[in-house]
Amino acid sequence: MDYRIIKKSKITEYLNNLINEYVIFAPIEKDDIVLYDRIKSGDEVILDYSNSVNSPKEAVIPQLETLISCKNNEDITCVKEHLDEQKRFLLFGARPCDARSLLFLDKVFNDEKCRDVYYMNRRNALTIISLGCTRPQETCFCTTTGGSPFSSEGSDLLFVDIGDDYIIQVITEKGAELVEKLDLENTQNDELTKMDIVINKSKARIEPEMELKILKDKLDSSFEGSAWEILTEKCLSCGICTYHCPTCHCFDMIDEETKGKVERIRLWDSCQFPHFTMQTSGFNPRPTYKERYRQRIMHKFSYCFDNYNMAGCVGCGRCVSQCPVNLDIRQVLTAFYGKHEEIRL
Ligand code: SF4
Ligand code: SF4
Repeated sequence: MDYRIIKKSKITEYLNNLINEYVIFAPIEKDDIVLYDRIKSGDEVILDYSNSVNSPKEAVIPQLETLISCKNNEDITCVKEHLDEQKRFLLFGARPCDARSLLFLDKVFNDEKCRDVYYMNRRNALTIISLGCTRPQETCFCTTTGGSPFSSEGSDLLFVDIGDDYIIQVITEKGAELVEKLDLENTQNDELTKMDIVINKSKARIEPEMELKILKDKLDSSFEGSAWEILTEKCLSCGICTYHCPTCHCFDMIDEETKGKVERIRLWDSCQFPHFTMQTSGFNPRPTYKERYRQRIMHKFSYCFDNYNMAGCVGCGRCVSQCPVNLDIRQVLTAFYGKHEEIRL
C-alpha cells in the first residue's frame, strides 16, 4: 500500500486547490448540526466531528432531480437532467461506513439488468476521500455489518488522524491520481507506527455483536412471528430512519406540467410511509407499522443477501440516533438474534 502524509493545517489550501476542478461535498456545521453539503471554500469544512446528520448519498441520489423534460407539444425531444458533466465530484471527509454504503448503492443502481445512467453518471465522476473514525459513537455498529472504523472499502483515499497530521492510505488509481496532483510527502516508519496504534485502539472499541448469516436465518424463520407487532408498536411511520440512511434508496417519479413544459421528476420516497405500497384498487399489502418496519429490516438483513450478498445496512447508527421514538434497530435485531429473552423494547 502507498502511504502519504499531510499536515492538518494544509487541508484548507488542499481543498481550495481542488475546488475549481471538483464539485466538493464535505462535512460542514450549520445551525449547530453537522451536515454533508456542497462547499464553496475549504475553510467551511470541519473534520473534528463524530458523524453527520444526513448521509452523503445526496451526492449521487439527489432528493429531487429532473430526469427528462419535454416541450408540451408534439415535439418529443427529451433532454437529460441538468448535471454539470464537465465537473468531477469529490466526497471529502466521509466516514468509512458511508463510503461502504456507496458500494451497496452501486449494486442496486448498476445492476446489469437495470443500469441507472443518472446515478452512474455521478458515481463515475466521484472520488471518495474518507476519514477513519478514531472515536466511534455509542450508536455505531459498523463491525456487525461487515465494516470497521478504518475500512477502506468504497474509498479512493483513507485519511487517518495521527495528531497534527493525517496519514493518507492510497486505495485506488483515482486516489493515486489525486495524491500525485497534490505532490504529497511520503511517510516515515514512526508515523506508520502511530497510525497502527490509532487504528487498533479504535477497532477495540467496536466489536461485532452478531453473525449476519445467523441473523438472516433467524429473521427468515420469524417472518410471521408476533414479535414484530410488539417491537414496532411505537413506530410513527415518519420515515426519518430511511431519509437519513445512507443505503435506503426508494424513490417515486412524477410528471409535472408547467407552462409549455413537462418534466419527469424523481424524488426520495420511504417504505415506512403508509401509502408507499397502496395499490390503485385501494388494497395495501403493508397496511400497518408492523408490515412496514418488518419490510425495512427484512430487506436490509435478508433480501439484500439474496440479491447482493451484502447487508443493506452499514451500521452508521443514524436511524438509532434520529428516530423520534428511540426505536433502536440494534435492539430489534438482537431480539430476533435471541440475545434478549423477552421481546419487548
Ligand atoms: S422507526 Fe422511528 S424514524 Fe423510522 S419510521 Fe418509525 S418512528 Fe420514524
Ligand atoms: S439502517 Fe440505520 S444504521 Fe443501518 S445504514 Fe441505515 S441508518 Fe445506518
